[in-house]
Amino acid sequence: MGSVETVKGAIDVAEMGATLMHEHIFVLSADHHANYGPGGYWDEETRVADAVANLKRLAERGIKTIVDPTVVGLGRYIPRVQEVAAEIDLNIIVATGIYTYGDLPFPYVNRGPGTMLEGPEPMVEEFTRDITEGIAGTGVKAAFLKCAVEHADASPGVLRSLRAVGKTHVATGAPITVHTSSPEMTGDLVIRVLGEEGVDLSKVVIGHAGDSNDLDYLRRLADSGAILGMDRFGIDVFNSTENRIATIVALASEGYCDRMVLAHDASCWIDWFGPDPHALRDLLTPNWHYEHISNDVLPALLAAGLSQEQIDQMMVTNPQRYFS
Ligand SMILES: [Zn+2]
Repeated sequence: MGSVETVKGAIDVAEMGATLMHEHIFVLSADHHANYGPGGYWDEETRVADAVANLKRLAERGIKTIVDPTVVGLGRYIPRVQEVAAEIDLNIIVATGIYTYGDLPFPYVNRGPGTMLEGPEPMVEEFTRDITEGIAGTGVKAAFLKCAVEHADASPGVLRSLRAVGKTHVATGAPITVHTSSPEMTGDLVIRVLGEEGVDLSKVVIGHAGDSNDLDYLRRLADSGAILGMDRFGIDVFNSTENRIATIVALASEGYCDRMVLAHDASCWIDWFGPDPHALRDLLTPNWHYEHISNDVLPALLAAGLSQEQIDQMMVTNPQRYFS
């Protein structure tokens, strides 16, 4: 099966165990955070201790690995993740890539094919370095690629990031997770563009596909070979847990368990909703936390008739295949 890189070094893929395929730890807007976090809403020691406590509880539920797609644009900062990882018995797999719904970060705007300064695609060079040499001198290697396609009418910058991710996959073999929008069905565009880039679509997770209950859309994506990210359990404002479960059960009955993975897209801290993200969670999304799947979703899937083998396929076998 081979090995996969984690924050604490390479492990045998066979050791991944029960895996949540899309969880963040800290989602921070780096520029804003540097200027308004410390002395304001952010206390480093408190936040690291909180993450350690949350992830320890998750590990106690039997989860062995989380896959963290926090890349540039979401405040990736590996030293802080290393601090957390050192305190817990949980594998954390990290990513490289870009998260934007529109423009690219300025370091990419003027360099690369078709830009003012031309030259090779700097995203491919930097993503590749993260995978092959490690991230920012930490020694931690990224094990997968991530980008975002939020709009069906994708911007030139988003299309460039998607193609850069595809090209890096072809060069390195690293698998891909793409944030998609189910209302705008951007999974279709992802499949088309990554297909044009020669990507092995069985190594692609269509992130947030689980926000959709449109079985025609989901079958179409899965029939390409791609994996459906049923990965926002607890974000009821996008799709209720009840509907997310019904959709998985329907697809499982048609033989699609080998193309679904589970997660919450949760985090210990996200700065998108004001200075205290827990206030929003308490109000709108009480189940948006790391343990909802273990506590509520897996029992509900079993009660709805899925077998333990089918659950293991989604939680263990599919993640192993993706990273093999
Ligand atoms: Zn996410």
